[in-house]
Formats: sequence, C-alpha cells, structure tokens
Amino acid sequence: MSDVLDQLVAMSHYLGDSGRSYAILGEGNTSARIDSERFYVKASGTTLGTMKAEDFLPVQITKLVHILDEPDAGDEDVSRILREALVDADESRRPSVETMLHAVLYQFPEIHFIGHTHPEALGGLMCSGHARAFAESRVCPDQIVVTGHKSVFVPYVDPGLQLAREVRTRMREFVDREGVLPNTILLENHGFFAFADTAKKVMNITDMAEKSARIVLNAYMAGGPKYLIEANVRRIDTRPDELYRRKYV
Ligand SMILES: [Zn+2]
Repeated sequence: MSDVLDQLVAMSHYLGDSGRSYAILGEGNTSARIDSERFYVKASGTTLGTMKAEDFLPVQITKLVHILDEPDAGDEDVSRILREALVDADESRRPSVETMLHAVLYQFPEIHFIGHTHPEALGGLMCSGHARAFAESRVCPDQIVVTGHKSVFVPYVDPGLQLAREVRTRMREFVDREGVLPNTILLENHGFFAFADTAKKVMNITDMAEKSARIVLNAYMAGGPKYLIEANVRRIDTRPDELYRRKYV
C-alpha cells in the first residue's frame, strides 16, 4: 500500500471512530492527493470507520472541475462525470457525490488531505441561526492556532454540483479578501470540511473545530458567547510564538 493511501486509511478510521461522533454509517468522505492531476477519494456507500485501501478510488481533478462551468449540467451529467473521472474504469463502484467539491479544493496545490464529516456539536451550530457567526468568529487562542482566524461559511445549497460551485466561489473570495488559504469550511445545515498538507493536521483541525463548537454551545447556555475582537484574533494569528507552535499542530 502506498504511504499516502496508508495515511488516508488511518485518517478515515480516526474521523469515523464511533467514539468521536463525527460520522456514522455512510456519512462524510475523505481524500488524499496522489499528484498534481489525481487524488484518492472514498467510494460511495462505504463507512469511514471501516475503510479499506480498496475502498478509495483514484480520480482525475480536471475531469471533475470542468462540469462546474457547464451551466446546464444536471444529475445525469454528474453521474457520467463521476464515472469518467475514475482512473481505473470500474462499473461496480462510484466515487462519493462530494468528489467534485474535493476536486475544487485540490486545485490549491497546498492541500494534500481532506476530511469531510458531520460532527455533532458543529452540526448543532450549523443547524441554528448562529452558524455564520460561529464560522466567521473565534472564541479562544488555540482555536485560532489550529483552525485559522476564520472559516469559509457556505449557506445551504443542494449537495453535489451546486455545493461544489458555491465552495469554489467562496474559497476564491476568502483567499482574495483574507490573503491566506483557510483550512476549514462550515456548511450550513450540513457539516464540516478540514484540509491541510498532512493527514495529522486534518485530524487535529477537526478535533479542535468540534471542541470549539462545544465551547460555544456551552457559552450559549451561559448567556451567549463573547467572541474575540478582530484585533485580538489577528494578534494571535501573527505572533511569532504562535506561528512556531502552529508548525507542530
Ligand atoms: Zn456531508
């Protein structure tokens, strides 16, 4: 088994561990970059916690992103593209419907591993009127160190093609506006994406985002969260000692 695939299987088992409540049954999906053209992605209908190496399918990035620019593309076109993007033609298996979203993220060369989950506390906030505030604010320093100064927030749209288009637009806007690549996307009424250059970081980012969501839910019980002001968030985000610490998270 290749080293990348090995790490992807381990990361999937971690994110799909029943004790963590990040994903159950067929929920969520994971992927890892093979090279500049291809990545491995979870096959549809598999379970994160019990993934085997052969449950990941190699797919081609450019094939998957082309459909985003076809305004008339429908469900049948999506099925066809998901089939055509497979590096090894196999009629019995198809990649997850969110594969197009993964392909959008792999257009950023810094990204090598992606974990999409539906964690419980994050889900509670994403299914509430406080979703955007949580995504675009921070409550404590460690949250900033691990999950960045802000997340990309995506209001609810139809999963699959529409969601991939929306994520592409919002990722570009974020990079233009903030000048840095985010490492988290929060999807209203849906779930969470973490991405990084290593599998370990994807696990750490997911753990910290979910812990932060629990803290904020607790804060609502205590009368409502007091988010950090922008200047304090920026200070943590740029402090030399925190940048040093970030290398190890
Ligand atoms: Zn999902």
